[in-house]
Amino acid sequence: MYNHCLPQEGYTLLYNHLTNMIGRVMNPLELTNIQRALEQCKTPDSPLFTSLAQDRFFVDDACYEELAADVQYTTRRYNGIFSPIILASEQCNFRCSYCYEEFKRGNISDDVINAFIKYIRKNLRNYTGVSIGWFGGEPLLAAKEIERISTAVIDICAQGRKPYSAHMTTNGYLLDAAMVERMLRCKVTHYQITLDGMAEHHNQTRALINGWPTFERIIANLRGIRDQVKARQLSIAIRTNITKPQLSRLEEYGSFMATEFGNDPRFSFLFRLAGDWGGERVQGMKDELAESLDTVYTRLLNSGVKLSQTDTFNLMGNPICYAADRNSFILGSDGTMYKCTVRFDKEYNHLGHISGNGDLFLDYDKLNQWLAQPIRKVEKCASCTTWALCRNRTCPARIFDEASDEANCSIEFSSLDAILRLFDRLNSEYVKEYA
Ligand code: SF4
Ligand code: SF4
Repeated sequence: MYNHCLPQEGYTLLYNHLTNMIGRVMNPLELTNIQRALEQCKTPDSPLFTSLAQDRFFVDDACYEELAADVQYTTRRYNGIFSPIILASEQCNFRCSYCYEEFKRGNISDDVINAFIKYIRKNLRNYTGVSIGWFGGEPLLAAKEIERISTAVIDICAQGRKPYSAHMTTNGYLLDAAMVERMLRCKVTHYQITLDGMAEHHNQTRALINGWPTFERIIANLRGIRDQVKARQLSIAIRTNITKPQLSRLEEYGSFMATEFGNDPRFSFLFRLAGDWGGERVQGMKDELAESLDTVYTRLLNSGVKLSQTDTFNLMGNPICYAADRNSFILGSDGTMYKCTVRFDKEYNHLGHISGNGDLFLDYDKLNQWLAQPIRKVEKCASCTTWALCRNRTCPARIFDEASDEANCSIEFSSLDAILRLFDRLNSEYVKEYA
């Protein structure tokens, strides 16, 4: 049910949404024979069939596959790890042209820090672990606050014998090698850093508050991390927000990145469309917004530049936003609890707050709407090979805002063929060959 088949010259690419496996089948004729035999309810006698069945491209009964999809969906949405995303600082040293944030508040207050630590102390027994995402604004403006919270929560988790992990979304300006070492002591091992192409474009869209450029400093930081930080568990995803003007220098950017960071497996690359997420600043660049990432993947493919895309691959297998997860919350610097890191101005996103005693006061009617939204199987979803995983819920906030007749496909799904071709031609580690 979840196979997507993409014929190429002389072979076939197979992708399974449920297992997130990509297969390169070198004998497409045999694949056709297998499919014919199955249509006639015969079990194909072929080593290719055995291999593909072992990897669950073929299953005994579609019911089992649907069950597996249901279990996977529920397990992900209701896993026991407490996963707050903390707005360590709601200020930022950048003013990106497409940014929706209003920067009304500053660093997380001492009261909220203490309340959060109390919450963890009182409630850790209800969770299987804690995983904090540091976010902002720019979280590293509050590096000391991050250290304070991390030290306390790591200690509580160690006493409770529960695993702890952390990741961070940062603009990278303050993330030099010394800062990474500091943050490693806070168990921050995964980063997402945004660069918007070569200096010329990046500095236009991602300048400091005073308009000064940021590209050189971020690249110097990344070089420093590459050369001076030895930790193998570190991973850095460089996110590039694509606008139409950047496309003209995409190959140059890809090649620069591959030369600088392509040989260090800790670096990977994620492409996103710069989008209209609201706010005033984006209004001036509407004509520059690109509509699809197909061109990006196709041009990378034609250029032969090899960039590891671990996050892209992971997002293919898990297309739904964390806002749909039961134990994922956003903690604002003033103690307000939200569900989504974009729509801060919407009432439906204001779930409640954390009290000084470390208790969560949440509006459960609102929370339940985020978690158990009505099923919207629109026309496009009816024949979609990823319905059971996606359920038209990749962005749960859209359900509150928009008419219900649209398919809410993930970016990866929308550009799936282009991504598969890219992974295939670049001989990516994600592609398994079937002789
Ligand atoms: S709910 Fe939608 S808008 Fe909010 S963070 Fe998730 S994907 Fe983004
Ligand atoms: S929203 Fe898109 S990806 Fe999701 S099930 Fe519908 S058609 Fe498929």
